This record gives sequence, structure tokens and C-alpha cells, in this order.
Amino acid sequence: MIRARSSVGLVASALILAACQTAGRTAYEAPLRQGELLDPPAAAQPQQAARTAEADFGLIDADTIAHDGRYFRISDLNPGERPSAETLEAGLWQSMDRVEQQARTSGNRVDDPELNAYLTEVACRVAGPHCSDVRVYVMRVPAFNATMAPNGMMQVWTGLLLRTRNEAQLAAVLGHEVGHFLRQHSAQRMKSAIEASNFLAFFSVATGGWGGLAGIFAQGQLLAFNRDHEREADGYGLLLMNRSGYDPREASLTWKNLIRERDANPEKDERDPFLATHPAPEERTEVLGELGMAVASKMPTTEKGRDRFLEIMLPRRAAWLRDELNLRSFHTSNELFDILLEDDPNPAEILFFKGELHRLRNDEDDAQMALDFYGEALNAAGSAPSYLHRSKGLVHNRRGDHAAAKESFEAYLEASPNASDRLIVEDMIERLATS
Ligand SMILES: [Zn+2]
Repeated sequence: MIRARSSVGLVASALILAACQTAGRTAYEAPLRQGELLDPPAAAQPQQAARTAEADFGLIDADTIAHDGRYFRISDLNPGERPSAETLEAGLWQSMDRVEQQARTSGNRVDDPELNAYLTEVACRVAGPHCSDVRVYVMRVPAFNATMAPNGMMQVWTGLLLRTRNEAQLAAVLGHEVGHFLRQHSAQRMKSAIEASNFLAFFSVATGGWGGLAGIFAQGQLLAFNRDHEREADGYGLLLMNRSGYDPREASLTWKNLIRERDANPEKDERDPFLATHPAPEERTEVLGELGMAVASKMPTTEKGRDRFLEIMLPRRAAWLRDELNLRSFHTSNELFDILLEDDPNPAEILFFKGELHRLRNDEDDAQMALDFYGEALNAAGSAPSYLHRSKGLVHNRRGDHAAAKESFEAYLEASPNASDRLIVEDMIERLATS
């Protein structure tokens, strides 16, 4: 926190603010400088002065200082490297190996060989020589998130797969997580916990039980890093995108869309806990946007990989859209659907789910809005789910329009002769026929 005091204080605050911004940005840029993808800063001297000021003001923690090779410098993990048995890190890895055992059989895990093979393929391409050190688990959770454990276990939530638009955007996230792994951010965090002498609290969390959804969220708490770790991981994401040929300009676009979703929430909570450990999405959008351009300018060719990505994701998306609906968060889901509609190859499906949003909210005018979107879906490119007609029937029935309801239910059974709820729908048709 920065508080202004006397005029001297004001100068100091300005210096500190400049220092903060520099420090924040430095963390993004450090991996790119290491990868010789960024020219040395024009005004190196002032930056050094700013960094000395930062250190004096105790504004930067140990691992940021580590960038300059001072104090406990933690180098990148080498391919196949595991901490030696007598170290504390080894204890952390062992507890993560147990967590991974449970994640493998977790009820939330998406057991889909083709999807898992695809995620592993992209993670492998991004991780390069560390390909065999990283293992990806897809978890069915309708939120934008991915986590990386110190032992190389990466989890990717289906809510993230729903929101990324191509393989390059996916690579940006996987590269970010691989950055946490290579930079051993968990071990760094553990060392700072030791420093802050609340190691026991840290380790007891590390060895606690992890079954089920609660376990997945508790894991998130353990695997939280600090803001500079997140910035450095973002920088690694760009570095690894560059090395694997992906278009680094795609990295910032995901954040741009997340800001739109967040801002669509009338109850958005400024005190979002996510921001306690992460840079503001606006900062990430801006810095990743600039650095993505700079890195792309050094690449003869860049790849977005949209077709391959959609080939894998589109057939699986309806379930994830349904999960999003079940969050009953009208405004943010509606904004997400509008974002998807902007460049979607199957708009009929998204328009159907916009109809479902209105049907389920059931406020005034929602019945008509739902029918309008179902109508649009039937005339749009792509294909809407066959149960669109069932939803139409439910809306007509709720409005007391029995003839139209009967017609829709019949259209549903015609479109899906093997529907699992056939008997129930046939019964409804019969009752509507006599009502
Ligand atoms: Zn992260």
C-alpha cells in the first residue's frame, strides 16, 4: 500500500508508484529478455535506479530480486529434474504425487481420451524439452481456471476450454502454467512461507485430503502464487508461444473477453479474491498486448490453430454450455454467449443457449425472448441441439399455448426418435391433446 505524507512523501510515492509499475512490468519481461526476445531497455540506468529504490522500500520480494541473481536464486528446472530426496521440495512433490493420484480418479475429471490427447499434445509442444515432465488433467468445472502443481500436474477447467477461441490462446494459458513449473514458484512460495515462519500452516495444507470438488478448490488455495509470479508466468507463456510457433498476440485477447464478462456482472465484487494473488486483468491485457506484438514482430510466421482447436472442442461444447447455464448467472453467461457469437462456426447452438438463459430466468418478457432466440437458432448457420423443440414446448406450455406446445413436443420426438425422455414427452402430448 502507498500512502502520501509530506511533499517529500509525495515525491517518494511517485517514485514508488513508478517503481511498482516498473517492477510489475519487469516480471513479465524477464523471461523474454532471458529468451532474447526483447531488446535491452533503452534507459537501463534509470531502471536500475528504480530497482534499487524498490529494494530499499522493500517493495519487491525475494524472487523478484532473484531476477537479478541475488539472494536465493532459483534456476529453471532442467528436463526430467526432480528435487533430491532430502530437500523440502521433495516433500512437497511427494504430497503432490498423492494429490495427483486422487485427481486421476476424481469425479470431476473428464475421462475423454481424444480431448486429453489433444491437451497433452498442445502442452507438450509448448513445454518443449519438458514435455514429459508435465501431465494435463481436464476437470469439469464451469469457470476460467488452470492450475499447476510443483510436480508437473496441470489441471485445466472446462470453463477455460469454453472461453478460449483457438489453439494459440490455449497455448498461452498452458505456457503460463508451464512457466510456474519451470520457475518452481511453489518452492519459492514455500521458501517465503518458511521465511514468514508459517511453514507448518503451508505444509499442513499441502498434505491435507484432496477428494472431490472441495479438494479441487482447496488445491487452488495452495497453488496460489503471488502477483509477480503470475506476471513472470505470463512472460513465460509468451516465450514458450514464440518457441512453439504460436501467435503471441492471442495471449491478451482471452483477458479482454474475461474483463467483458466480469463487467457484465451487476454484482461484480471489486474485492474479488482472485485479484489478491493476480495482476488486474486490465494490466495483463495491456502488457500482454504490447509484449505479444513485440514478440510477434520477431517471428517469421505465427500460428493460431483455430480449425484443429474447434474440431476437438465443438463436439464437446454443449455440455460445458449447459454447465454455464446451471450457474444461474444470467448477465455474465449472456455476455459470454455474445462473445462466442462474434466469431462462432456454430451460432445456432449459442443462440439456442441464449434462449435457454431466458427460459430459465423466466422474468417478464423472457418467454418471448426465449422463443425469439430459438427461432433465430433454427435459421442460423450450424446446428442447434435437437432438444430445442422440447424447450420451445415448455415455454409454450408455460404460457398456456397448448396447441403450439403440442406441436413443438411432436417436432422434438420427430427430431430425436430415441430421446431418453420419450415416454414423458408422449404423455405430455396426450394430455395437451385433451386439454
Ligand atoms: Zn498463474
